[in-house]
Amino acid sequence: MDIHEYQAKELFEKSGIPILRGEVACSAAEAASIAERVGRPVVVKAQVHAGGRGKAGGVKFCKTPEEARANAEKIIGMQIKGKTVRKVLVVEAADIASEAYVGITHNRAARKATFMVSAEGGIDIEEVAKNNPDAILKEIIEPALGVTRAQARRLAYHLYPNNPAIAKQAVSLLLNLGKVFFTHDCTLTEINPLIVTEQGELIALDAKVSLDDNGLARHPELEELRDLTAEDIGDAKAREAGLAFHKLEGEVGCIVNGAGLAMSTLDVIKHFGGSAANFLDIGGSSNPQKVRTAMEIILRDPNVRVILFNIFGGITRCDDVANGLVEVLNSTEVGVPVVIRLTGTNEEEAQEILKQANVITETSMDGVIQRAISLANS
Ligand code: GDP
Ligand code: MN
Repeated sequence: MDIHEYQAKELFEKSGIPILRGEVACSAAEAASIAERVGRPVVVKAQVHAGGRGKAGGVKFCKTPEEARANAEKIIGMQIKGKTVRKVLVVEAADIASEAYVGITHNRAARKATFMVSAEGGIDIEEVAKNNPDAILKEIIEPALGVTRAQARRLAYHLYPNNPAIAKQAVSLLLNLGKVFFTHDCTLTEINPLIVTEQGELIALDAKVSLDDNGLARHPELEELRDLTAEDIGDAKAREAGLAFHKLEGEVGCIVNGAGLAMSTLDVIKHFGGSAANFLDIGGSSNPQKVRTAMEIILRDPNVRVILFNIFGGITRCDDVANGLVEVLNSTEVGVPVVIRLTGTNEEEAQEILKQANVITETSMDGVIQRAISLANS
């Protein structure tokens, strides 16, 4: 789950990370009156779950409340990476002397969280990693220890080798960022840019926090940070229905039961030269309603050219899935071909149901996937 910059900054503030607080506005008039109250130049910042807002024109420096009004007018309603901006953060402007990058994220290769810092801040870390990888210092975090003081010192002095006063402040900031990451079960905590002001203060000028959905049960208070207006309708529907769903960029819509089978289905699609439109695990005990919801979610994606079912019936009963599918086919104009392979519990009953409804079935996983790919390409 992604949260907005202003929410991430609240978490930072509670953990002792210096920020500029600002206020959130939903209209240009509100933005102007906040700027009036600040009484100094402000920055108006789009609050949207997307990076690169600055480049997209979603971060604007404003000398006067009138400028704040005009910029908020432009930014609210703007699309950034396909997401509509509904709110802006109006925050006093800082005088920037230097910009750095600091962030913690999961490192799947190390199977541990990793701290990354770079003195080249303000630009995407991916770009730095590509063009100047030596600028980035990484520290792998031992889960039992968390971020250690020694690690924080190495990272801080990498950023500010010639400025011990700032490096010292950075040590405690980096330790606090580690606390934010681990106490909230984050998948990402990032400050880009972390700035030193002309006045010599260290401030987190931006804040990006992503929370691990699987950790949310341990932090019910964080659930309140969910912005339902920002959430993709498909994601919201899937969450309500208890389906594990992730949208991907390809053309083969997938309905699979079990995360492992879903992952291998994606691998085999790739193997045969296709590309999956999504990961979707309908889970065990798939009642017909789940199948309907799954199809509705997948069909919202205009890239989908075929729907592929790959079902291994254990607890899931194949006839339940078949009934769900036939019910959908009978009541809605699906618009794309559907192919299905199912095996396991109540397989024969399912085959009978599908045969009567003229649904394309295949017996092997390879077979159904190759069939789906050729239908997607036809
Ligand atoms: P992002 O583009 O979504 O990462 O948004 P950021 O919050 O990182 O802002 C983008 C850039 O705008 C920063 O790297 C800064 O260079 C600039 N910026 C943001 N806030 C201020 C500010 O208060 N003063 C000045 N001078 N520049 C700012
Ligand atoms: Mn940023």
